[in-house]
Amino acid sequence: MSDCVFCKIRDGQIPAKLVYSDDRCIAFDDIHPQAPVHVLFVPLQHIPSNNAITPEDRELVGHLVLQAGRIAAERGIGESGYRLVMNCGPNAGQQVFHLHLHLLGGRPLRGGMG
Ligand code: AMP
Ligand code: ZN
Repeated sequence: MSDCVFCKIRDGQIPAKLVYSDDRCIAFDDIHPQAPVHVLFVPLQHIPSNNAITPEDRELVGHLVLQAGRIAAERGIGESGYRLVMNCGPNAGQQVFHLHLHLLGGRPLRGGMG
């Protein structure tokens, strides 16, 4: 996707503070952090949203969750706790239509779930 900001980060066309990368995903700090730790886990493959995932993506999505837990521990928030968020569509406020998982933590997180 030529106009996708996360594809551009993946391809090195837009800078990002890279936290982690492997052959399936990249993780980088959110440009507008909403908590002391705010990292985005992004598959290399351009998948627009959770509405577009298929059974073949099962392991990929699990991989994002697994890596988020690992980075949470690495950042020292494994025990204090954190939130994993995946926004899908307008009512969730999804801004970037390339699948991503938010890792948020580092302080007591505000608000309810909806
Ligand atoms: P969402 O609302 O779930 O689509 O979240 C998109 C997130 O991407 C927001 O938290 C933005 O701050 C973040 N974001 C947008 N552009 C960039 C960028 N160039 N580098 C890092 N994070 C970004
Ligand atoms: Zn993309």
